[in-house]
Amino acid sequence: MSADALLPLLKSTFGFDAFRGKQADVVDRVMTGENTLAVMPTGAGKSLTYQLPAVALTGCVVVVSPLIALMHDQLRGARAAGIRAASLTSVDADFAETRQAYRDGALDLLYIAPERATSEGFRTLMEARTPALFAIDEAHCVSEWGHDFRPDYRLLRPLLDAFPAVPRLALTATADKHTREDILLQLGIPAEGLVLAGFDRPNIRYRVTPRVSPAKQLTDFIAANPGPGIVYCPTRSGTERLAEQLAKATGRPVAAYHAGLDAEVRSRVQHDFVASEDGIVTATVAFGMGIDKPDVRFVAHAGLPKSIESYYQETGRAGRDGDPAEALMLWGADDFAKARMRLSELPEVRVAGERVRLNALAALVETVECRRALLLRHFGETPPERCGNCDNCLEPAAQVDATVLAQKLLSAVYRTGQSFGAGHIEAVLTGRSDERIASRGHDKLSVFGIVAGEEARLIKPLVRTLVAREALETTEHGGLMFGPAGRAMMKGETPVLIAEPPVRRTQRASRADRAAANPVGDPLFDALRAMRRELAAEAGVPPYVIFHDAVLRAMASERPATRSALADIPGVGGKKLEAWGDAFLNVIRQL
Ligand code: ADP
Ligand code: MG
Repeated sequence: MSADALLPLLKSTFGFDAFRGKQADVVDRVMTGENTLAVMPTGAGKSLTYQLPAVALTGCVVVVSPLIALMHDQLRGARAAGIRAASLTSVDADFAETRQAYRDGALDLLYIAPERATSEGFRTLMEARTPALFAIDEAHCVSEWGHDFRPDYRLLRPLLDAFPAVPRLALTATADKHTREDILLQLGIPAEGLVLAGFDRPNIRYRVTPRVSPAKQLTDFIAANPGPGIVYCPTRSGTERLAEQLAKATGRPVAAYHAGLDAEVRSRVQHDFVASEDGIVTATVAFGMGIDKPDVRFVAHAGLPKSIESYYQETGRAGRDGDPAEALMLWGADDFAKARMRLSELPEVRVAGERVRLNALAALVETVECRRALLLRHFGETPPERCGNCDNCLEPAAQVDATVLAQKLLSAVYRTGQSFGAGHIEAVLTGRSDERIASRGHDKLSVFGIVAGEEARLIKPLVRTLVAREALETTEHGGLMFGPAGRAMMKGETPVLIAEPPVRRTQRASRADRAAANPVGDPLFDALRAMRRELAAEAGVPPYVIFHDAVLRAMASERPATRSALADIPGVGGKKLEAWGDAFLNVIRQL
């Protein structure tokens, strides 16, 4: 049976009118019994490629998944869609019932952790009734190249090989070529079984901007983004400080999350966030894996991420539901200075690689061209020149040739002895004398007062650029000194183009189209959300399990009056229609 033949089932079970991206290719392979590795970005809808076959095929689909939180999240979603699903994990009390249900053929979908999947008992269960498919989620865990190697994943192979007739489907969002090849090898999937989807996440709007006053910048950003969001901070203490500041400034629920907190606190923060419609978590990178919350509306970085790969993965947690979402990165020259300082502590063999990563990040934050295009090229794609949904496309900055100014700036650094900070250098260049300058005779230098008027406002952004490009480095005491690229630049050998600093960029335009995206203030939309909250509390699930925002939005604008009109709205499947349809129809009728 082909994927196309499953369209009616896709609609009646999940309420979707069409497959997205490469879903159909993957489902086609699964349905014809072939082994497959699906590499698709976060939010692409990988789960559907085994959940739909779980409904279509006779026999149970076994899903290996690394985290209990992930399994339970999926379980709730699958059950809400009417799929007979269960999990076997250390926290499930209904173990015996689940095994019996599996033996009786009363399950469509069974989730299991890798350490249990490789046990003798599970093998016996599989022998009692042959499964329809082995799905291995987060399959990069099988590879030592991957970023989350899990030795238990390596032990899955004997189980898979014991059932050669059962097809395998491995799924991951990891782009890296090495890891992909290793997964194929480790799980016994032929090279032609690789289905690779594009990495674009068109609904995420990327913004990258210098960090001037982070608390204020983040407060404004959050004020314009009413939905749930994550703010990544480089340090544990930073997460706590920022949580306090943001809670006070925004009045929204804000919690800090980092690996130093008690497991209990962490799990409560995570649980509250998943259930919330406006909550914010300030977190280190420890937060994220295992959170399949589809309605995260923004991800902000209060400091430079570790690499483009981590930036892509972290921002990818926004907007999985396909609705508009925002990613904001605040960066400073000191982020690069610190990162380069850390390079010196690394073992020799890793330095070159880390330097390449940092330079790629420098290019991302500095570029005046399309951010998305740069990201996608980094992952080996050939995207269009402009995406129309990043800061540089929406508010293109003019470029300024700062080659000569860079020469002047570097000379000033050189002549003052490579130990003063940006403020001092700026004062020297613009001819603002003070006691410190006079006492050192810096007002007598040839570079004193050689930058005037308009050009002066380029000095700060230029310092950031020069640090990012390694023309300047920061001393231990915050002074500026020459970096490896400094000399050539001082001689004028490297052209330096920088973005014209904005007079004042407003977020108004984007606020307007966000309003269109989520009609906050529309009484019907608000009433539908209130009903969703009520039903969610009753069913003990997060609101998005009932319906996504997009579904409520469509209800608010189309105002369906009958069950069948409601069923036409994408995202309204048969089971949900039956369970909750009337409740929502009533709300619509009353307003
Ligand atoms: P992934 O595992 O690839 O990160 P998920 O399987 O969690 O992504 O799915 C992300 C979101 O996409 C889910 O909320 C899901 O309901 C939605 N989705 C999946 N397939 C479709 C589709 N064909 N049409 C519309 N939405 C879809
Ligand atoms: Mg997934």
